[in-house]
Amino acid sequence: MKTAVNKIYNPEIECMSREAIREMQNERLQKTIRLVYDKVEVYRKRMDEKGVKPEDIKTIDDLHLLPFTEKTDLRDYFPYGLFAADLKDIVRIQGSSGTTGKPIVSGYTENDVEAWSEMVARALYAAGGGEDDIVQVAYGYGLFTGGLGAHQGATKIGATVIPMSSGNTERQIMMMQELGATMLCCTPSYATYLGETVKEKGLQGKIKLKSGCFGAEPWTEEMRQNLENLLDIDAMNIYGLTEMGGPGIAFECLEKDGMHINEDHVIAEIIDPVTDEPLPYGEYGELVFTSITKTGMPLIRYRTHDICCLNPEPCACGRTHVRMSRITGRTDDMMVIRGVNVFPSQIESVLMRVKGVTPNYMLIVDRVNSTDTLEVQVELSEEMFTDTVSGIERIRDEIKENIKSVVGISVKVQLVPPKTIQRFEGKAKRVIDNRKLGF
Ligand code: AMP
Ligand code: ZN
Repeated sequence: MKTAVNKIYNPEIECMSREAIREMQNERLQKTIRLVYDKVEVYRKRMDEKGVKPEDIKTIDDLHLLPFTEKTDLRDYFPYGLFAADLKDIVRIQGSSGTTGKPIVSGYTENDVEAWSEMVARALYAAGGGEDDIVQVAYGYGLFTGGLGAHQGATKIGATVIPMSSGNTERQIMMMQELGATMLCCTPSYATYLGETVKEKGLQGKIKLKSGCFGAEPWTEEMRQNLENLLDIDAMNIYGLTEMGGPGIAFECLEKDGMHINEDHVIAEIIDPVTDEPLPYGEYGELVFTSITKTGMPLIRYRTHDICCLNPEPCACGRTHVRMSRITGRTDDMMVIRGVNVFPSQIESVLMRVKGVTPNYMLIVDRVNSTDTLEVQVELSEEMFTDTVSGIERIRDEIKENIKSVVGISVKVQLVPPKTIQRFEGKAKRVIDNRKLGF
């Protein structure tokens, strides 16, 4: 029986009038632009190149005058080039995979960690959470923002936290049952796997979960339905990205009709990914964020490459912050596999360093038993094709190990005969995604 009820963590902010939100955004935007202009050389140079001075940015209508920030900037200025605070004031570094093997990192001041914790606290409240709850965190802990993000939010609402981290499914379920967890935070695919295992074990009546916040990867309404049935919970969507702080940038309320964006901390825009022009509310395009409270590493007009649309209509829950739709796709070729961002270029760079294979490869993504799988098919060179079985097995192991260490995920490797992978005249298609995400 679902028991989650609508609660608002910070009604003064979450339900403020649109005019008041806008005023707050204008003021915070001005401050942030002044900060990055003074402290971050890259931004100062780019603004100078465009002939824009901090005093030219008065309201969010002036945003379009500012340059974009790209994921490649985080790689190019790795590790500290985009930090606006001195390292002595940075209390945390979190990270995520970048477009090459090098991770991208984000630096947080105490103020940033506090803001991030509150964003997740709002999400947990919206999922009916509070101090009486026992929150099982089954997102990975570490550089990835999922584990610590959920942990801090759950601590902030005064709940009891079980920091399980991801994996070890049997133990997760044992603890969930024995400790009486009432909320679950993990990726939706892992939650589904947990749910299926609970069902298989005949433990459905013995689990006390009422709701959960699930994110870090794309999912669908069908997956929600399935998950809600499996665990008898309200399954809420939560969105975020390391570059803007982590999970909690946007979250669903029990209306389950879009995710409220924490507009007191970020300004969201939707742009046409081809012309780069801003699009009106309701139109699908690329989501772009500007930080307006971060002091560690504030990013200006950061291109997420995530595709969605925005809805400014008031919500029945009482919150006034704009809602974003589910992410329907990406404008680049990033895949999210078991919550880990994977770029074909990372795999390609591994393959290029292995002797005996050609640069012809295909990546096949699937979802088996609710778990994402990635198979790398790669052509052997003519010479290697006639080699011994043990020689071929050695290549397979080398590829597997190198991908594991560069990308951080286990993959299946299939070595195929020369000239069997399809060739393309235009852009090569390197990825076949068989997951039925249903967009
Ligand atoms: P990371 O910084 O490693 O946490 O990855 C952030 C990316 O994960 C985002 O840019 C999205 O592509 C994806 N992501 C995170 N949350 C969601 C969500 N709720 N729905 C769809 N995609 C998501
Ligand atoms: Zn709402």
